Amino acid sequence: MLTKQTYIVFLGPPGSGKGTQARILQKVVGLPHVATGDLFRHNISQQTELGRLAKRYIDAGELVPDDVTLGMVRDRLQQPDCAAGVIFDGFPRTLEQVVALDELLADRNGVVLALMLDVSDAEVTRRITGRRVCRNCGAVYHIEFNPPKQAGICDVDGGELYQRDDDKPETVRNRLYVYYKQTSPLIGYYFAKGLLVKVDGDAPPDRVTARLLKVLEEHGIKPVMEPSY
Ligand code: ADP
Ligand code: ADP
Repeated sequence: MLTKQTYIVFLGPPGSGKGTQARILQKVVGLPHVATGDLFRHNISQQTELGRLAKRYIDAGELVPDDVTLGMVRDRLQQPDCAAGVIFDGFPRTLEQVVALDELLADRNGVVLALMLDVSDAEVTRRITGRRVCRNCGAVYHIEFNPPKQAGICDVDGGELYQRDDDKPETVRNRLYVYYKQTSPLIGYYFAKGLLVKVDGDAPPDRVTARLLKVLEEHGIKPVMEPSY
């Protein structure tokens, strides 16, 4: 059981397995998975104004402006399911975002833990270019490493699997560049605060989950149920 508000932040390049692990851990530790990329894609599919604005940046492999992202995250954190904390995936991604997050959390009696998934560029490129996502539920597959039972169809709800536009090789290179330039400084930020744990993400998902669970337990974050894959 969690007694303090707990904020887990996943760091790591695109394709390092943040979403895969955050989806597994949300049930295990009983905290909601807040993925800014998923929130933007939901807005795009619903054709909201926020979605239209975000799409130009996402398609180019650039970051959505901080004020837009922060507004969306603030709204999400107001929702009742976030009362005990959250697992962030893809947020914060800039120094401005991490400073704003610290301010947001300053009033809350919370613990923050940043988990950095360490995976080589060659491996993340293989993972991203083979990623497929369910149009209905957002479940994530890989054509080689985690294929669905039936090609192109989601195991969970039978939805159509698609390749994200920004997962095509020409955009992936820019996303990695943007990651190193704008997001990797956050590793130093959390390290300096003693809140960073690096985890080797270059192993099958269940082994990475086991490593993460060990780190969480060492930080007093106890599982409420067993992981399922
Ligand atoms: P990945 O899972 O590959 O890391 P995401 O789904 O997290 O990708 O994000 C997809 C895109 O959405 C990013 O390339 C960026 O354009 C936008 N995005 C997501 N999170 C943020 C954020 N915190 N700040 C700015 N842009 C973001
Ligand atoms: P991120 O959220 O960091 O962008 P994802 O969790 O979406 O990363 O994973 C990227 C791709 O790699 C997906 O196709 C996913 O199925 C696959 N994947 C995730 N974790 C692993 C792993 N440990 N080994 C091999 N493939 C993985």
